[in-house]
Amino acid sequence: MRGAAPMHSTPLLTDRSQLIARLQESPEFDLLVIGGGATGLSVALDAACRGHRVALLEAHDFAEGSSSRATKLLHGGVRYLAQGNLALVREALRERSAMLRNAPHLASPLAFVMPSYHFGEQSFHHLGLWLYDALAGAASLGKAQGLSRLQALQALPTLRTDGLKGGVRFWDGQFDDARLALAIARTAAERGALLINRMKVDGLLSEAGRVCGVQCIDSMSGQRHTLKAGCVVNATGVWVDEMRAIDGRMAQRETRAILSPSQGVHLVLDPEWLSGEHAVLVPKTSDGRVLFAVPWLGKVVLGTTDTARKDLSLEPRPLRAEIDFLLAEASRYFTRPPQRSDVRSAWVGLRPLVDAAGEGAHPSRSISREHTVMVSPSALVSVTGGKWTTCRAMAEDVIACCEQAGLLEARAAGETRNLPLVGGRGESPHAIALSQPPGLHLYGDEALHVQALEGADQMLAPGLSEAMVRFAIRHEYALTVADVLSRRSRLLFLDARSAHDLAPRVASIIQTELGCDPQLEAFRRLARQYLDLP
Ligand SMILES: Cc1cc2nc3c(=O)[nH]c(=O)nc-3n(C[C@H](O)[C@H](O)[C@H](O)COP(=O)(O)OP(=O)(O)OC[C@H]3O[C@@H](n4cnc5c(N)ncnc54)[C@H](O)[C@@H]3O)c2cc1C
Repeated sequence: MRGAAPMHSTPLLTDRSQLIARLQESPEFDLLVIGGGATGLSVALDAACRGHRVALLEAHDFAEGSSSRATKLLHGGVRYLAQGNLALVREALRERSAMLRNAPHLASPLAFVMPSYHFGEQSFHHLGLWLYDALAGAASLGKAQGLSRLQALQALPTLRTDGLKGGVRFWDGQFDDARLALAIARTAAERGALLINRMKVDGLLSEAGRVCGVQCIDSMSGQRHTLKAGCVVNATGVWVDEMRAIDGRMAQRETRAILSPSQGVHLVLDPEWLSGEHAVLVPKTSDGRVLFAVPWLGKVVLGTTDTARKDLSLEPRPLRAEIDFLLAEASRYFTRPPQRSDVRSAWVGLRPLVDAAGEGAHPSRSISREHTVMVSPSALVSVTGGKWTTCRAMAEDVIACCEQAGLLEARAAGETRNLPLVGGRGESPHAIALSQPPGLHLYGDEALHVQALEGADQMLAPGLSEAMVRFAIRHEYALTVADVLSRRSRLLFLDARSAHDLAPRVASIIQTELGCDPQLEAFRRLARQYLDLP
């Protein structure tokens, strides 16, 4: 089945014991990917589409790192336009359309308004956004349009009125990051890749001075495995330097850290704060950053911050100053200033920013958002940086680099640019914008399979049925309450209190389906962290 067109009318099962058995039966691969975020999953999909034997190991859950904590925008990056980085913008705009095309159930166009409060600002913004759209060419989602003060208020009724001159409307895309990661993982699995979560790589194998495999530990069972591969790709996001350090120690070589991570906080508010279908982009906050308020899955996401961070926690905490900043900035643009008590959930992600100049003291805003692929003298391929929007193109670069280094046989590209992902094939009966509350539409053409499972009419929360939890466990690699309520459903990100209160019911379904510890208490602690603002 490897490399062949998908033949499954029914979703593949993701039974863990069968996945581990496959790993033990044939522990040799052409390509082994460490890290199951947007980058690693896209590399696995690309290689599997070319017919390579591929394995991917993820230490925690797929997308549990930065790839579930994005602002969830498919964008060229208006701010990169301001920096004059037109090539980066153009590439990202092309990738934006590929994502919208290949996963229409998980990504949709979104109209933004950039409000203007000063004379001259509007025409300047209009010109910039006209160029942004022109760079998209055939991938344009709609022309930038100047708005009068009245039109701006019609689009965004909660916008502060005093001093408002008008605005500019333009288009970008938005998506469900964690579910898109799972769709990429499951599409790669259909193409024969073996993907396993909760499997941490803690050592590299070497033969004649070259990396030729990994050692890993199953965090569910404690069992250790040794796997061999012609090519090993380190796609561990902000943890990329840890694996590079292991490689360096093995070869008795110094490695210099290439990453300068920066933290971004998002606050989630009820939909009344925007009251409409438009998102807001403030191009210059009081300290010169951009601020988004975006309608997403029935709530409003407000973000984000950009704070240099050295400690690489999987669950970084927001700083008090970051929350103060977001609430204060929102108060400058909305008629009703949001308070801490209005926040339904606060999540934090770490940006894998490549410190190209090697000067860690630079403020992160000036560090490149483009990706870096490097091959170590012992042939460990490391990739990091970039953004969610461009992960497909990044994967192509990684494979090209592996081929050039003679680590992977060169084969014709698998055309991932036009490859519909799981759930995105055929007519989706439920095509609804991502700004709308969650529901069956997020399953695209797999909705019928969900509905055929036990508990389809048992709603646990708005947009989350018992059948969806069973689908997550049977077909989407979910093993714990956090897997279900953070990344298959996004309830933790949307409303941490509801997620906290619902957790025992989800735990009991996991126990019945899998008979393993669903890690209920750990999840409830996490949900309290998402609510407990400093
Ligand atoms: C606040 C914020 C907002 C953002 N907004 C956007 C946006 O709107 N649009 C956009 O396009 N991009 C956005 N991004 C960027 C985007 O989210 C990241 O570029 C992307 O998710 C990085 O993916 P990754 O796979 O490289 O890293 P990750 O998603 O972090 O994946 C790395 C994975 O490696 C695993 N791992 C680490 N060590 C090991 C090991 N030893 N063994 C096995 N696995 C291991 C980790 O558990 C993790 O899952 C944003 C980022 C942040 C932080």
